[in-house]
Amino acid sequence: MPLTEYKRKRDFTKSPEPEGAEPKAHGASAPLFFCVQKHLASHLHYDFRLEYKGTLLSWAVPKGPSLDPTIKRLAMHVEDHPVEYGDFEGVIPEGYGAGIVMLWDRGTWTPEVDDVDAALAKGDLKFTLDGYKLKGSWALVRTRGYGGNRGDGRSWLLIKHRDDWAGDVDIATFAPLSVKSNQDFAEILAEDNPAVWATNRPATGGDAGALLRDAIERAAAIKAGRAKEPLPRPEKSTRAKTAKKTTGRKKKSS
Ligand code: MN
Repeated sequence: MPLTEYKRKRDFTKSPEPEGAEPKAHGASAPLFFCVQKHLASHLHYDFRLEYKGTLLSWAVPKGPSLDPTIKRLAMHVEDHPVEYGDFEGVIPEGYGAGIVMLWDRGTWTPEVDDVDAALAKGDLKFTLDGYKLKGSWALVRTRGYGGNRGDGRSWLLIKHRDDWAGDVDIATFAPLSVKSNQDFAEILAEDNPAVWATNRPATGGDAGALLRDAIERAAAIKAGRAKEPLPRPEKSTRAKTAKKTTGRKKKSS
């Protein structure tokens, strides 16, 4: 599918997101990329993306992936994204998707079916993930609908299969940070412009509003703290300290 909808929704003069080239041919032997981007926008969600035929097939998962095979997570099928998007982390100041994007997981995926197109058409794709946080066997299964979207074909469920990588650990809470920068939302925002939403926040109410308010406050504090950081100490005292520590350690171990 071309990136028409992806491009139509965005103004690349105002968004740092990659514009993306049109789908490229993929080397048959090269592993397929996958990523999950934690996105604090009008609502917090996790964008689950699988590289296929030169683009990233994308699903927005409101509650994020679960490692528990009994928990099926709603995954709304959204427009394909360019492959370049898979490395994106940063602040979208305004427009579609305005908010903070964190690269929450990335790695490679392998279809567990011979014909991915047929599996997608059927609405039942089984695959293996090899990421930092998500591993093992999973499925995306199309469902009949959810709420107002009943029957429009966009509702899928993301399900962990029972294997060594399944478990009851809440992975979103246990491993909340970026795999790219090891930062949280506030730290990612502090890298950019924490004052960007002085007015007109992408989220005001609910959980997303509270998370965003917290991120904005902490980002401003991080930036202020950085500006106030004392000059690095003279090298001499650092060396003396290191020498002392080393001596101490040696004494202990002997
Ligand atoms: Mn998103």
